[in-house]
Amino acid sequence: MKPVTCYIKERSLLARLAARYMGGSQIAMVIGKTIHLHGTSREDFLRHKWWVRHEICHVMQYRELGLVPFLWKYLWECARVGYHANRFEVEARAAERDAAIMDGVVIV
Ligand SMILES: [Zn+2]
Repeated sequence: MKPVTCYIKERSLLARLAARYMGGSQIAMVIGKTIHLHGTSREDFLRHKWWVRHEICHVMQYRELGLVPFLWKYLWECARVGYHANRFEVEARAAERDAAIMDGVVIV
């Protein structure tokens, strides 16, 4: 597998807006290859392996579909079936237990 370089953005405005919208205090969201954090630090986020795997799965979904198609399909899924049943979230939750998803991934 080709190496995938991912980035972390702490105190992200986008993540803050998403947290307000979703009603959460700690949030991570992915745009392309960047994991945007709100209410958590880089260190704290990286400490939770399941959480990192979940977000890396979203990075892979972006890679597979492309930025705009992924966002479009993701939002469409949310509108159609809601956040929890969204197939991209179902896949990311399954990835939380899959250590292999981190193969070739470098977080800088
Ligand atoms: Zn997710």
